[in-house]
Amino acid sequence: MDLKDFWRDILLRLYPTLRHDQFITWFADTAILRIDSGTLVVGVPSQFAYSWIDQQYKLRILEAAKVTKPELTDIALVVDAALINNDDTRKVLLSSVVPESKKVRKLPGKREVRVTGTGTDTVSYMLNPKYTLQNFIVGKHNRLVHAACLAVSMNPGSQWNPLFIYGGVGLGKTHLLQATGREILRNFPDKIIVYFTAERFLNEVVDAIKKYNAHDFKARYRGVDCLIVDDIQLLAEKDRTQEEFFHLFNDLYNANKQIILSSDRPPKELAGIETRLKSRFEMGMVAESHFPDYETRLAILQNKCAEQQVLVAPDVLDFIAHNVHHSIRELEGVLLQAIAQMRLENVTPTVKSVGTFIRRLDRSSDAELVGVSKEQMDSKLSVRGADDVISLVADYYRIPITELQGPLRKREIMMPRQICMYLIYEVLGFSYDTIGDYFSGRNHTTVLHSYNKVKSRLAKDSKLLQDIHALKKEMGL
Ligand code: ADP
Ligand code: MG
Repeated sequence: MDLKDFWRDILLRLYPTLRHDQFITWFADTAILRIDSGTLVVGVPSQFAYSWIDQQYKLRILEAAKVTKPELTDIALVVDAALINNDDTRKVLLSSVVPESKKVRKLPGKREVRVTGTGTDTVSYMLNPKYTLQNFIVGKHNRLVHAACLAVSMNPGSQWNPLFIYGGVGLGKTHLLQATGREILRNFPDKIIVYFTAERFLNEVVDAIKKYNAHDFKARYRGVDCLIVDDIQLLAEKDRTQEEFFHLFNDLYNANKQIILSSDRPPKELAGIETRLKSRFEMGMVAESHFPDYETRLAILQNKCAEQQVLVAPDVLDFIAHNVHHSIRELEGVLLQAIAQMRLENVTPTVKSVGTFIRRLDRSSDAELVGVSKEQMDSKLSVRGADDVISLVADYYRIPITELQGPLRKREIMMPRQICMYLIYEVLGFSYDTIGDYFSGRNHTTVLHSYNKVKSRLAKDSKLLQDIHALKKEMGL
């Protein structure tokens, strides 16, 4: 039995002893990493999961494991952040553990809402549990939009219909839409909610047209109590989809069903959207999601730290809150990079290291950073893209760039190539897939493997450690 099968075996035994949602929450991103003489080493995705599983489930895991391998004596938990990735092949698919009857309503970590339309087809859409109205931080700039969502969630389909939320990228629109859907379900568990991204909506319409050759689309969603469509501006110029949407909108609206929409601009400014739709968008409540003020930004960061169960120095949080000017997604992104670095390399985030992340957000301009000293500014990241890292590594190891990026598996080239991938990932934060593209289209598992290989060797190979330090220094880190 390999490790994965063994873990599945254990999970199958654990499942009946736990509540379904708890099982999914805590075990979705876990795996057996190895067995060290009598100790089963289990990987968990975060410090938070670590402490929870450690307190609540460790003994149960051991008991379940002993059924098959009685020689086991202990369980050791290890945090491995990579387990969060959906495509991590070490994990067991929970769908192979959870009984058939449970699958319909719930998938790992997601509340799934099932809708039956004409009876000929069944579709399901998901709300991400990480978005709630309770964890949306309210400041003066977004009090109105938040209040509108709360009101709708308590009284769907009444005076605030449709609810139309607009604002720039990364300002919390998706968060609010999904959270409102979730809150409606909390208040009215029997209601049927459908959440669409605009792309998904487009695809559904195209599919329906292909399958039914008629206006049956709206019939499939007639039973819905709340229809949510995110980024509605993407329906611009899609005339057929707009027409279907128009009919569906009218049906639902007339039946007092709630409609919630988001867009990057107010209804009036939506180019390429029919006037009759735009005027309907304005019939209910239109609220803007603004970029929050400094205090709210700081509160969002503090909340995120609490969620992640990490402590970050107040001056660092203050610095991030001061210097990210465009979106909450970027604000969170900078903090999460700092936390990732802290977990991976065991270094405490500083104003300087965080400054590097912020500058990377906008590499084309030399962002002016508030509250950073001249000295801190001096250490500038000199690499701007993967090509810079590749040429630096090629120079350092005196290997032609073409060889470094090429397909050849010669020993003297493999290690520098792996180092190169490691550095691009670490320093620039590119995804494994993107990195693979720079190396003759290698796939993400190869890149992941290279990354892990370098990382594990760093612990025991001082020459390698020296090289990485030297290379990082050249990059201005
Ligand atoms: P949009 O859909 O407007 O592009 P998102 O809803 O995806 O933006 O928001 C980006 C990120 O910022 C999400 O992780 C979201 O949870 C977070 N976020 C935005 N505004 C807030 C807020 N006021 N409180 C907490 N998190 C927020
Ligand atoms: Mg969005």
